Amino acid sequence: MGIGDQHVKHQVWIHETAFDGYDPALDHLGWAQPIGTDGKPINELDPPPGSPPVAGWRCFCECSWQGAQYYPRAEFPCADDTNPYGDPPPAVEGTSLTGAKGEWYRHVHRALPELIAHDLLKLGVPLTHQEVRMAVQLARNAGKSWSQIAAATGILRVEAETLWGSRRHPPAQRPWPHHGRRPDPPARGPQR
Ligand SMILES: [Zn+2]
Repeated sequence: MGIGDQHVKHQVWIHETAFDGYDPALDHLGWAQPIGTDGKPINELDPPPGSPPVAGWRCFCECSWQGAQYYPRAEFPCADDTNPYGDPPPAVEGTSLTGAKGEWYRHVHRALPELIAHDLLKLGVPLTHQEVRMAVQLARNAGKSWSQIAAATGILRVEAETLWGSRRHPPAQRPWPHHGRRPDPPARGPQR
C-alpha cells in the first residue's frame, strides 16, 4: 500500500491471518467498489464499452456485505479526474481505521471477533493485557471455540485456554513490591 501502488487498479484487502493459514479470514476480501453514474457496480478491471463513468465508491466484501457509506466522486475527486474509471483517492481507500478500508476492518471484526485479539497482539499489546482478555471474551461470547481463538491468535489451544480461560490466574499474580503503597487488597485470595 502507499507510494508505488499507483498502478494497481484498486487495492484488495485481506486480513493477514488468511496468510497465516486462518481459513475463515479467506471469506472476507474487501475493496472500494466503483459505482457508476447509473448507481450500479462497475466491473472496474474490464468495463464493457459504453459503461457509465465512476460516480463514487462503496466498500464491498466478498462475503456480500456492503458498507453503509457512499463516497461520491464529486466530494472525493480522483488523482486523474479526466479518467472516467479513475482510481479512488486515498481518502476513500482509507486505512485500517478510516475510509472504506476502516469500514471493512470493522465489518471483519464483527464477523470474526477472534481477529480483534490477533490484531491487538500484532500491535504489541501483551497477551495478558486487559484489552486482549476483553477481546477474547467477546469472541467467546460470540461462540468461538478455544481452538478457533488459538488459531486466530497463533498460539496453542491449551495456551489460549490457560491464558484467557476461566481457570486462569487472577491478573495481579506478581507479588506487590514491599515499597510504596499497596492497593486495596482484592477479595480474599491465597497469599503467596
Ligand atoms: Zn465480509
